[in-house]
Amino acid sequence: MALLTIGAFARAARLSPKALRLYAELGLLRPAAVDPDNGYRFYDPAQLERARLVARLRRIGMPVARIRTVCDLPSDRAAAEVAAYWEQVRVDNARRAQLAAFLVDQLRGRGSVMSDTHVDLGLRHAARTDPGPVRTSNEDTAYAGSRLLAVADGTRGPGGDRASAAAVDVLRALESTAVPAGGLLNALGEAVDRADRAVGEIAREVSSGTPVTTLTAMLWTGGHLALAHIGDTRACLLRDGGFRQLTTDHSYVRALVDEGRLSPAEADSHPQRALLVRALDGTGRHHPELAVHPVRAGDRYLLCSDGLWSVLPPQVLRDAAGAADHPEQVVDQLVELACRAGAPDNIACVVADVMAL
Ligand code: MN
Repeated sequence: MALLTIGAFARAARLSPKALRLYAELGLLRPAAVDPDNGYRFYDPAQLERARLVARLRRIGMPVARIRTVCDLPSDRAAAEVAAYWEQVRVDNARRAQLAAFLVDQLRGRGSVMSDTHVDLGLRHAARTDPGPVRTSNEDTAYAGSRLLAVADGTRGPGGDRASAAAVDVLRALESTAVPAGGLLNALGEAVDRADRAVGEIAREVSSGTPVTTLTAMLWTGGHLALAHIGDTRACLLRDGGFRQLTTDHSYVRALVDEGRLSPAEADSHPQRALLVRALDGTGRHHPELAVHPVRAGDRYLLCSDGLWSVLPPQVLRDAAGAADHPEQVVDQLVELACRAGAPDNIACVVADVMAL
């Protein structure tokens, strides 16, 4: 068959002569003949198929060296090579998308990054509290900052709102304090003591009643989340499709259930289900749960007040906690679900995702 000039070959292959010269230089597609006198290049029509393949592989961004490999393989192995390349692109892009999302959050003040291990992990988070459709006041506090996640549920009545806000505020000091890994739980325990004293001061200022608050807080170290917990606010972990409560409810009904005197179903409808056996009351007699949880990329943590967990069936809470991609969407959906369920109490929730960077 007659050879084609570079112009005719370029038109047939839907490539520019410039692209053909580049492919020749890169060794991807060499002319079939070059006129020794004038340097004109000629192509064999049989080369059209390869020219089109090269052009298409370039369009999916495949590096030249890899295109050369693909072109020299039999078609079944070339197919596998293209599929493997694209899977790599997909994985790289997913990772870049995650990093981009994290950076957007960090620039908006909703993300943080630290490292106490060899792995770079970041946290993206959202917090929301809502009085609910029934109550006019809100004694719940929800906070998510650069290192601290916290919810607190103050008693209804004078000073309850200030007690929950003060407890979280005291713990916020830990965000800007360097805490040695070995002293993490001591530092948290001491912060809870200070939070209790702050609640005591508020109690002395209010004219009637005794403001009390729960507190469930997690402090981010980059590889761990340290937990301090007292009362019936909860911390839960969504990991590998499983959903589990990390905290114990320090409530009267929970104690009765533990003693076998009440079934979990009876506890749910018990008139004194909101009664706490432990809380921050300013007396110094609190005994918080303190723990350190190693985190994994992909973990989602949920902190919430009883205004959320007591109105949503466990399966609904679990599904909603895992449904949306971004913590902001999750907290919005959880609050909306609780409100639709009637929400006789205030609602506080915090959601935080651990991200590989
Ligand atoms: Mn409550």
